[in-house]
Amino acid sequence: MTAHILFSAHASRWDLYEAPLKEALDAAGVDYVLATQMPPEQVDYIVYAPNSDVQDFTPFTQLKAVLNLWAGVEGVVGNRTLRVPLARMVDEEGLTQGMVEWVTGHVLRHHLGMDAHIVNPDHRWDPVAPPLSHERPVTILGMGALGRACARALRGLGFPVTGWSRSEKRVAHVRCLHGDEGLAQALRGAQIVVLLLPATPQTDSILNASSLNLLAPGAVVINPGRGPLLDDDALLQALDDGHVGHATLDVFRVEPLPQDHPFWAHPKVTVTPHIASETRPPSASRVIAENIRRGEAGLGFLHLVDRDAGY
Ligand code: NDP
Repeated sequence: MTAHILFSAHASRWDLYEAPLKEALDAAGVDYVLATQMPPEQVDYIVYAPNSDVQDFTPFTQLKAVLNLWAGVEGVVGNRTLRVPLARMVDEEGLTQGMVEWVTGHVLRHHLGMDAHIVNPDHRWDPVAPPLSHERPVTILGMGALGRACARALRGLGFPVTGWSRSEKRVAHVRCLHGDEGLAQALRGAQIVVLLLPATPQTDSILNASSLNLLAPGAVVINPGRGPLLDDDALLQALDDGHVGHATLDVFRVEPLPQDHPFWAHPKVTVTPHIASETRPPSASRVIAENIRRGEAGLGFLHLVDRDAGY
């Protein structure tokens, strides 16, 4: 059987993905037709990004699965016209590795107090050594594919790491907490908190005035998860009153971050333009191809989204 695969993402992505996807599908031994246009009733799989033209899946009568190119699925998970399995991107080689590098880099920046030496206009000779990592508790909210990998990397550097998730987890040498009752425990006294939760109604503004208040004075907030995880006004207030020392933010409620948003000019905020980790075409293509191979072989799909949970 020939698998008919529609690539449905922003046009610029096709140039990046056409060759790696074909290479990965060939290597996986899939017989396929891959195109950016195809009669909907012929399509078996859609390789999808939420900025795609396809918002109504009803005409895709033979569809077997939608394979999301990104880890986050908030742009498609609630689509009621989608009635087939939805898989998201989990790619250890590319996406996960990129996130581990970005998170450890920003944690180390704050842990080591690098800014004071990189920008030192008064030429201050201030020989105060930073504490060692074992004296700096880090909390990660979200212990999925990305959160667990970051937890292991930070633990490997010596940080005492606490992770928080919806269900119970076990990660060697990481304090794992879960459920509503675990949240306050996870945040209390954390000096650095990293947000790696998905955007769902349950996680909206999970860092708000009262949860921020649980952090250690001067704590650092690092958000590569999604903008809605944070109550922006509460964060600005906590930065202004000194309870939060710095925020490094990669994702925002509105992207690109509007020019007049106070985060841009705030001296205690670092803005990065949603680059914490990108889906990398070669390795992501292998993940997509493997799922199509499995679909064609009648095996279950990997990395399925729980539509009720929203991620
Ligand atoms: P996963 O789905 O693997 O993990 C999500 C984690 O969040 C799980 O541990 C889950 O708990 C936990 N979680 C979800 N809802 C709740 C809740 N209500 N209470 C407590 N815990 C909850 O996702 P990934 O690790 O792959 O990705 C995480 C997010 O990172 C993505 O959704 C995306 O928003 C963001 N991202 C950002 C990128 C960037 O460049 N800035 C790049 C890629 C991803 P449980 O384990 O119990 O299910």
